[in-house]
Amino acid sequence: HNHNIAIIGAGLAGISAAQALTQSGHRVTLYDKSRGSGGRMCSKRTTEGDFDIGAQYFTARDSQFRQEVKRWLDQGWVTEWNPRLYRYDDNGLTPSEDDQQRFVGTPRMTAWSRHLLEGLELVGETRIVRLHPEADRQWLLVDEHDRHYGPYDRVVIATPAPQAVPLLEAAPQLAQTAAQVQMEAGWAVAMAFEQPLTTNVDACFVRTGPLDWVARNSSKPGRAGLDTWVVQSTASWAEGHLDLKPEAVTQQLGQALAEVLGLHLPPPVQSHAHRWLYARPNGEYNWGALAAPELGVYVCGDWCLGGRLENAWLSGLQAARTLT
Ligand code: FAD
Ligand code: NAD
Repeated sequence: HNHNIAIIGAGLAGISAAQALTQSGHRVTLYDKSRGSGGRMCSKRTTEGDFDIGAQYFTARDSQFRQEVKRWLDQGWVTEWNPRLYRYDDNGLTPSEDDQQRFVGTPRMTAWSRHLLEGLELVGETRIVRLHPEADRQWLLVDEHDRHYGPYDRVVIATPAPQAVPLLEAAPQLAQTAAQVQMEAGWAVAMAFEQPLTTNVDACFVRTGPLDWVARNSSKPGRAGLDTWVVQSTASWAEGHLDLKPEAVTQQLGQALAEVLGLHLPPPVQSHAHRWLYARPNGEYNWGALAAPELGVYVCGDWCLGGRLENAWLSGLQAARTLT
């Protein structure tokens, strides 16, 4: 039996569910509050270059996911990134090379999500605020302007856990499960410099101070333009500075970058600060996906497994499998 299915959230989990369900012959429509899509896999485009300000790279450990990654590599949608890796702790900056394969979308992270969305129906700039039950176990989606979409006989919710809870009023058990998941915040700052910084660092895991990650964005394959950098704060620094003005965040995290690299930094010619309220789940779970088949409601997202792109993809796949 072919279903008419709505997916709320067009991040990697929603996209993965959409692809699997479409392949099984169902009719699928994705809804997202943002104009484009890709969710936390997100790039900021500027005149001085494009910056990945959400997910930085991904790893592939599951064999099914690795197969999928191989297909994307063959298509040229993703490329392996081999940064000169460092770590920074109380003893300072030290090289920290390893054998882990890391992949990035080319020429920016969102280029990959755009390719994945080709052929799928996406309704953007539409924030769904509730599900309205109709006769015959069908659902209407209601947006923030009280516009209705549907009816649908299956609904997949693929948003971060805190944003799934209000949509799960009709499925209180799923709502209760999702409400267990706290998601941590994070600040990301992108900076472009006129002259390349004199350092060998392409990426650095930071173990002390306000940062937890530093990347030379322009060291990723296919990135054109100036020397660009992206730094990300720890969750605890973000929690303590949630309402700090973006200019002040840029200033403070720029200073932290200077400390990590041991350099005096010139003022960036372009900078951008982004606050993520729901950057990552505070733990790992083994739900795969959540389901209330008697209602036709399914839930997926990275948080059903962990806080990584691979988790998001696998969770979407699991939701699709449970549904069919
Ligand atoms: P999301 O990408 O969050 O997608 C959910 C979508 O739902 C969004 O597009 C949102 O707009 C939409 N939405 C929410 N509510 C509604 C609503 N009511 N109506 C309509 N639409 C709605 N992972 C890695 O593997 N490697 C990394 O290096 C890495 N770095 C990261 C760095 C940062 C700063 C952040 C924030 C995350 C990082 N992650 C990383 C995690 C990775 O980005 C996520 O695991 C993954 O993108 C989650 O995908 P998702 O589809 O589950 O959720
Ligand atoms: P991964 O295997 O490269 O890294 C996992 C973790 O192992 C790193 O965070 C780091 O702490 C450690 N690590 C790995 N290689 C290291 C090295 N050579 N030297 C020192 N430490 C090393 O990648 P993954 O498991 O796919 O994780 C994805 C990345 O996404 C992680 O870095 C994670 O912190 C990050 N992430 C960030 C956010 C955010 O909001 N900033 C959200 C979700 C995930």
